[in-house]
Amino acid sequence: AKQRGKANYVRYVGGMEQPVLAHAKLGGELRRALDADEFKVWYQPIMDLERGLIIGVESLVRWQHPTRGLVSPAEFIPAAEGTGLIVPLGRFVLRETCRQAMAWLAEFGPDALQKMGPNVSVRQLHDPDFLGDVRTALADSGLPPDRIVFELTESAVLRGPQVLQTLHRLHDMGVRLALDDFGTGESSLSLLRAFPASILKLDKSFVDGIELDEEGTPEANARQAVARAVIQMAGALGLDTVAEGIENQGQADRLRGLGYTLGQGFHLARPMPAEDLTRLLAAQREK
Ligand code: C2E
Ligand code: CA
Ligand code: CA
Ligand code: CA
Repeated sequence: AKQRGKANYVRYVGGMEQPVLAHAKLGGELRRALDADEFKVWYQPIMDLERGLIIGVESLVRWQHPTRGLVSPAEFIPAAEGTGLIVPLGRFVLRETCRQAMAWLAEFGPDALQKMGPNVSVRQLHDPDFLGDVRTALADSGLPPDRIVFELTESAVLRGPQVLQTLHRLHDMGVRLALDDFGTGESSLSLLRAFPASILKLDKSFVDGIELDEEGTPEANARQAVARAVIQMAGALGLDTVAEGIENQGQADRLRGLGYTLGQGFHLARPMPAEDLTRLLAAQREK
């Protein structure tokens, strides 16, 4: 029989355990990073497609790592959720968003930004302190609650009556809720009726290729059909819509033609640090 060397065995076991070990190690790194203020909040404009004006922003967390540079949330949000660190990290994003929003409203007037959208993970919704944290963040900043639009995925909302109760409490506080990545999950009319949402964010996957016209692929026609169905349903339910992931003018035009008035995407504006958005808001005021 083949003798398995120790190094070999360690490597085999190591291979099996790698995700867990990597997860635990990353968890420790994230805790250190939070204490060292390495996380930053970036903002991506949400635009009025007709007038080309910034009407709101989505808050997106960034990790400014001392040696690795800017780390994408796709690389650490899963570990932050797995280790529970998403709770203090999410609290930081919320507090920073409220503080920055208030500074922008003070500088550019109450109409400068209508929505400030932090993403909220299901772990936060289950945290017993979450509602208190939201109340404190609003009180400390002085931001009117209706400026906050929490972005939640359908899978987070579908976690049962306790989460639904938390969402109703937020709604009662005057905070607004958006269903993120809409169309990719198990969305149903009954979910939309049970859940106090005010905004549907049409997922990027239905925007990709939507500009290709009738002679285009059946896939493009199917995307147009979904985009049309979503805006009709939103209209019937009295919800606003935001189309996500707009990467060219053809997509923006097609979405406007379908009735979308709000959009977000690299073609309109990329996520940016607060200082850059301050400059854009100043330029917009001069217009
Ligand atoms: P998301 O909530 O769906 O956010 C939109 C993502 O799409 C962002 O990626 C944004 O930069 C990107 N994006 C926007 N426009 C375009 C476009 O035109 N083309 C393409 N290809 N991408 C576009 P980002 O910032 O890397 O964030 C990725 C995901 O990480 C987010 O997806 C969200 O699920 C999560 N995330 C980010 N920040 C937070 C946070 O503070 N808390 C939580 N819980 N999750 C966060
Ligand atoms: Ca989002
Ligand atoms: Ca999204
Ligand atoms: Ca997404």
